[in-house]
Amino acid sequence: MTILQMPVRQLGMLVNSFARTATCGERIFALLDLDLAITDKPDAAPLAVTDGVLRFEDVSFTYPTSRTSTIGGLSFTARMGETIGLIGPPGSGKSTIAHLIPRFYDVTAGRITIDGQDIRDVTLASLRHAVVVVQQDAFLFTTSLENNIAYGDPWAQPQQIADASASAQLAQFIATLPAGYETVVGERGTSLSGGQRQRMTIARTLMLRPSVLIFDDSTAAVDAGTEQRIRATIQARAAERVTIIVAHRLNSLMHADRILFLEEGRIIEQGSHEELLAQNGRYAALHRLQMRPDEIKTASGTTDKTSGE
Ligand code: ADP
Repeated sequence: MTILQMPVRQLGMLVNSFARTATCGERIFALLDLDLAITDKPDAAPLAVTDGVLRFEDVSFTYPTSRTSTIGGLSFTARMGETIGLIGPPGSGKSTIAHLIPRFYDVTAGRITIDGQDIRDVTLASLRHAVVVVQQDAFLFTTSLENNIAYGDPWAQPQQIADASASAQLAQFIATLPAGYETVVGERGTSLSGGQRQRMTIARTLMLRPSVLIFDDSTAAVDAGTEQRIRATIQARAAERVTIIVAHRLNSLMHADRILFLEEGRIIEQGSHEELLAQNGRYAALHRLQMRPDEIKTASGTTDKTSGE
């Protein structure tokens, strides 16, 4: 990195905190009517991630505007390297659970901890650095591709940016641009295609190296194929973190280590895909409903005898 680039990168850091608190925040606040009262406690300390264990302890949650609880007495533990899938009917509380982790709302009862630290006791900045909700539609700043990719990490080295771009299958395209990584997004002639924007999202997420990565397929503004590619790239690095997949489509979470099937804010079934199929309960019923017969064979490795019924 040259000296001339550094202030831009530092500006990027400011833009980043602004982006997280204002851009994402305002958009999400607007969408979800979030609790703006969530702030740091006076004695809040930065989150210290050691083992990367996320724990929900008897968590209940009621929206400020609601009379009835959305989440009731929910407990589960996710360890580094694990992928947890959340599925259930619309309105069962999947997105709400995902949004409690970065503290878009605070729990009403119980607690959520990361490595034993109650997330309400740590600074919001450190929590939201560690917990990243994958944005499906990249918000790009009018700055270089390099700064757009590295916006979460002002001290990122060119090699890290190149690695993230390569993993996101973006490097080849950038190599064709006369100004390469210095190309300014949004300037005449340098608008990106939808697919390229998606790959920018992947590269950016990989740069952030979150401890908890939340992927919500319900916000997917992309086709299933693109979403599948994003997820596959992110999955490839799942060992370094807890991955939470909020899924409306079974395809999105069949390979999760553990799937929590939710109904009315409670876990009613849990296990791996195979275990849940063997239980032959609500998950298995949803599986029969969502999958085509040929997909059932590939997905479960066995022929589902009910698929032809
Ligand atoms: P899912 O992701 O499983 O579809 P959600 O977590 O989005 O479910 O919603 C769970 C319940 O909480 C639903 O009944 C929904 O109407 C309600 N809900 C979601 N967002 C809000 C909100 N901002 N204010 C009040 N109620 C909400």
